[in-house]
Amino acid sequence: MRLFEYTALQIKEKIISGEIRPVDLTKQFIEQIKNIDPHVQAYLSIHEDEALKKAAQIQKKIENAENVGFLAGVPIAIKDNICTKGLHTTCASKILRNFIPPYDACVVKRLKEEDAIILGKTNLDEFAMGSSTENSGYKITRNPWNPEYVPGGSSGGSAAAVAADLSIMALGSDTGGSVRQPAALCGVVGVKPTYGRVSRFGLIAFGSSLDQIGTFTRDVKDAALLLQVIAGHDFHDSTSMPVPVPDYLREIDAGVRGLRIGIPKEYFSAGLNEDVHNALKNVLRKYEQLGANVIDISLPHTEYAVAVYYIVANAEASSNLARYDGVRYGYRASKSNGIVDMYCRTRSEGFGNEVKRRIMLGNYALSSGYYDAYYLKASRVRNLIKGDFDGAFQKVDCIICPTSPVPGFKIGERAKNPLEMYLSDIYTIPANLAGIPGISLPCGFSKEGLPIGMQILGKHFEEKKLLQIAYAFERETDFHRKKPVLKFSLTQK
Ligand code: GLN
Repeated sequence: MRLFEYTALQIKEKIISGEIRPVDLTKQFIEQIKNIDPHVQAYLSIHEDEALKKAAQIQKKIENAENVGFLAGVPIAIKDNICTKGLHTTCASKILRNFIPPYDACVVKRLKEEDAIILGKTNLDEFAMGSSTENSGYKITRNPWNPEYVPGGSSGGSAAAVAADLSIMALGSDTGGSVRQPAALCGVVGVKPTYGRVSRFGLIAFGSSLDQIGTFTRDVKDAALLLQVIAGHDFHDSTSMPVPVPDYLREIDAGVRGLRIGIPKEYFSAGLNEDVHNALKNVLRKYEQLGANVIDISLPHTEYAVAVYYIVANAEASSNLARYDGVRYGYRASKSNGIVDMYCRTRSEGFGNEVKRRIMLGNYALSSGYYDAYYLKASRVRNLIKGDFDGAFQKVDCIICPTSPVPGFKIGERAKNPLEMYLSDIYTIPANLAGIPGISLPCGFSKEGLPIGMQILGKHFEEKKLLQIAYAFERETDFHRKKPVLKFSLTQK
């Protein structure tokens, strides 16, 4: 096994025992990123000096037999919409090209306290708006399994970095599927925690009633490890809930005997790719063999989820993005005729097309005379969607469905058609509207050799149970151990 392929738990053990030195490991990862990433384009910035400095500190602690953190020496990549003190945080937008946050996001602070090594910041769709990472203001990330395909989005850089062995773990954000969908498309494990489980202090806001920070890892145990570090109440984010964080790794092998798994008929309807459907059938067979009961359920308002999401998310985005006016942050237009003209030029030049589209749609939905017809109505339907889940969880312990309706799509294939792109998230969006947790894990491959992900959804704050259910499947299968063979030609830089 190559060094890059170890899980975080394995690496941590080797570091603590002295078998691997953090500085050597970090150097090797930086080298690997420099060689491979020009083809994958997962990173927007690499933090070589800071990473090596941190590695040296951890090395010293180990040599002096001092205590080390929970993630001692483990390399991690961070989506570039999560603030890192003193280091660029661009949201993949030109408007934040020069933004250097004066503080660390809560999750970054916790990672540092637990001795993780931050390798760099990863690419995303501008302001996390998209499902393919093609909307980045800087570059297009490629799917390590096939460079002609998108890695998913919006956290495509983080998913591709873990899949291509350019990091062992990564953080992303999930407003409508941006952790789970790219995890599925890149063949890694992605967790979107419950709304309120992880502090969003320092996460650049998109849709404030939907946003959550989530994890990308090679396997389920690493997801448990990373969630353990980032979860829990934070004084700086009043939406983070003051509820205890369980030990996610303890009892992760509890199994699924007697568990009731709900299969929502609305998630297995027209439009579902045949390979994905077949992979999911095998998943359910496996769970039945392991002693679970598979039960048909209905989530009747599912068909409205995408429409509701694009009103709520855009309305919130239009308000959140009003702060980028060229006065306090980032880019300012060089020529202007007075202050109003300066705002207009700054925003016209600084934002990309998708971001502008959403700001306009969001402002429209919130404007007087339309508010009731759009925003208010969407909020009401959102409640019905949440009610569907509440009802289902009276009958079942979890819900299993595909993460994405297709195994992947080619770069450029959906870029010109926003509606087609929006439908990529049809199975992930309802969980954000309801605030419930979800996990995506590898469960098969398509005929073209692209990974397929399954999704497990659970009740609020039941991440522990989701991880147990996911682990029960993972330990019986080896989809998560398969690695992409990188086939990048040099012309594809
Ligand atoms: N693809 C969805 C969107 O474009 C979700 C994005 C996300 O979760 N950040 O809004």
